[in-house]
Amino acid sequence: MPNVLLLGGTTEASALARLLAEKGVQATLSYAGRTEAPKAQPIKTRVGGFGGVRGLVDYLRDHNVTHLVDATHPFAAQMSAHAIKAAWIAGIPHIVLTRPAWVPVAGDRWLCARDIDAAVDMLAGPARRIMLALGRMHVEAFAAQPQHHYLLRFVDAPAEPPALPHHSLVVDRGPFTIEGDCRLMQDHAVDLIVCKNAGGAGAAAKLTAARQLGLPVLMIERPAMPDRMEVYLPEDVMAWLGHDDAPNAERGV
Ligand code: NAP
Repeated sequence: MPNVLLLGGTTEASALARLLAEKGVQATLSYAGRTEAPKAQPIKTRVGGFGGVRGLVDYLRDHNVTHLVDATHPFAAQMSAHAIKAAWIAGIPHIVLTRPAWVPVAGDRWLCARDIDAAVDMLAGPARRIMLALGRMHVEAFAAQPQHHYLLRFVDAPAEPPALPHHSLVVDRGPFTIEGDCRLMQDHAVDLIVCKNAGGAGAAAKLTAARQLGLPVLMIERPAMPDRMEVYLPEDVMAWLGHDDAPNAERGV
């Protein structure tokens, strides 16, 4: 019988947790602990870092984990790198449940930045009104371009006010709609959106809203990862675990 460790913090991880529970597969969902009130889950959960690769290897061994599923966010590069190494050392199979990156379509006005630092550098210049749609983790880096007004949207209210001299803060965990995001951008007179190429449907409303309003987007590319087995559907993870009644979907690599 498989005993799965599912690295989560995403809607994909929650969807897989539901399938694992439905099929009665033994599994634990792991949260980093960044969000105050993570979603209730139908499988066992644990919270907090493992203590690097060594700590994760110990966890896998101590808990007799047979399969490691990395369903963390595409920008959670450190956790994903640790997962690859730890699975290798512990000698267990590893798979990544992720989402395809967004690609620009007709009408989009995207400029791409290699990473957060490059995006910050690209904001040198006169003051603008920027929607910084990045979550709260990387906001501090934008203090290096203090001339802009930043519109921030966080899942939880921050303990300390963000260190940006000019900003507005909206606390909202979605789901976000195109109409709602258009209204938000217009209400705050946004003239540029900065975001990470997270992919997925949940956070795409802002891109459609930007297209409809003719606004430019500074898109931060995903961190590079070593080759690994990647799938885009929770059902494909179930098939990988040996639940062959799952629909046969295409595998991304
Ligand atoms: P990260 O930089 O790759 O990870 C930093 C450290 O946090 C890891 O080395 C690990 O600590 C711990 N960690 C991360 N994910 C964990 C998990 N699922 N379970 C247990 N420990 C975890 O990750 P991050 O960018 O800070 O993201 C943290 C979490 O938020 C992830 O679970 C991710 O799915 C979610 N998230 C991230 C983003 C984003 O844009 N980065 C967006 C939405 C959700 P140890 O080394 O001590 O094991």
